[in-house]
Amino acid sequence: MSLRLYNSLTRRLEDFHPLRDGEVRMYTCGPTVYHFVHIGNFRTFLFQDILRRFLLYKGYRLLHVMNITDVEDKIIAAARAQRVSISEYTKRFEAAFLEDMETLRIQRPEVMPRATEHIEEMIELVRRLDEGGYTYSGDGSTYFRIDRFPDYGKLSGIEEDVARAPSAGGRIDDDEYGKENPRDFVLWKAGREGERWWDSPFGNGRPGWHLECSAMSMKYLGESFDIHCGGVDLVFPHHENEVAQSEAATGKPFVRYWLHAAHLIVDGQKMSKSLGNFYTLRDLLDRGCQARALRYLLTSVHYRKQLNFTFEGVEQAEAAIRRVEDFLIRVREVKDDAVGREPLTAVVSGARRGFENALDDDLNVSAALAALFELIREVNPLLEQGRVGVADRDRILELFRDFDRIFDVFQVEERPSADPEILRLIEERERARTDRDYRRADEIRDVLLAQGISLEDTREGTRWKKRS
Ligand code: AMP
Ligand code: ZN
Repeated sequence: MSLRLYNSLTRRLEDFHPLRDGEVRMYTCGPTVYHFVHIGNFRTFLFQDILRRFLLYKGYRLLHVMNITDVEDKIIAAARAQRVSISEYTKRFEAAFLEDMETLRIQRPEVMPRATEHIEEMIELVRRLDEGGYTYSGDGSTYFRIDRFPDYGKLSGIEEDVARAPSAGGRIDDDEYGKENPRDFVLWKAGREGERWWDSPFGNGRPGWHLECSAMSMKYLGESFDIHCGGVDLVFPHHENEVAQSEAATGKPFVRYWLHAAHLIVDGQKMSKSLGNFYTLRDLLDRGCQARALRYLLTSVHYRKQLNFTFEGVEQAEAAIRRVEDFLIRVREVKDDAVGREPLTAVVSGARRGFENALDDDLNVSAALAALFELIREVNPLLEQGRVGVADRDRILELFRDFDRIFDVFQVEERPSADPEILRLIEERERARTDRDYRRADEIRDVLLAQGISLEDTREGTRWKKRS
């Protein structure tokens, strides 16, 4: 079966065919490094990670770009209030984001461009739009004239009168006085006294929020590329405006497939600071949640379904991982050939087809997991009866290894057994590293070394070896 994806642009499931044979070019809107990223954001980033890994699994070459939004009005204002440069303000949140990505085993995209390092490309894009007659200026800012772009609304399906409503833009700016039409959006904002601004042919100023994604995606991926993702809240106005800016400038279709993840909610409610249900990854690790269980939980619900986060759900995820790993331990224990028994070839290949078909079907992770659990249910009694041989053992381990190239939560390979105290120390060290308490982390490393345990920090987490 070939990959099918739900395209927000056509509102249909479509067969996926990249523009260039065997190669996928993909852009995903990255974080605004204004504060710590929350678990809702991570739901979206994890869905993108599953997509990315599945494309690689299917053998595509992949060029994936994820931007870092490090200039934005709130960032500029906060940096000013703290009397630091915007890069000083954002760098700790950017570093925290990268660390959180590692904790959640989110693979790094090939390119992660910062907005502040692409101001020239953004100015160039405004210049092209200006040349094409798509812009006007008012009060020192430059705006995109939506009436000049008849396709406006084709992604979000937003009706004209809705787009006109003052609150339709999501982020309402109090400094966009120069607009001729409330639907228009700002490309380049007039610089403000005492705040960071850049020189441009349109006057001193700062880029509007939407501009960066058009400028950076087209720089690295070309004027037309395959996939663009984000959370549903970005469909309008962010992505709609990206389409307008990009297509007006180039005259070419911008993106083939638009994919949007539904939101994460907590205990059935929107996450918000005032409700006390707003969690960053760090909050949850502090409460004792395992990073692996969070990865499992946040990826196991289909990306187009709302995900309701509960602590019970975290416990269920932990239990599911344990169930798989207990099974894998028993499979690895098989040492003899099961002579004269029906081999499990068909069962294992059926499970493989099950998970691959499920992921091909618009990344249906829950159905993919169900195929594995079905296999576990079938094979468990056979293991108990000693009816699984080494050839089946290897087939089953191979299947889980392959699935884990995408899902990346199970311990498929054998670990040398360790006493619980050692495991506890390794976990405590991982926690210390997440908290950047490197002194404690190094102390623990030394304690373990003295016991003959050496550690290796990899992108997949900490591995350890006992010297024999
Ligand atoms: P931001 O840093 O606000 O631009 O958001 C980064 C990504 O997280 C975007 O793709 C958003 O659409 C997505 N996002 C924001 N809130 C949630 C949520 N509650 N659940 C899932 N994704 C979200
Ligand atoms: Zn974006």
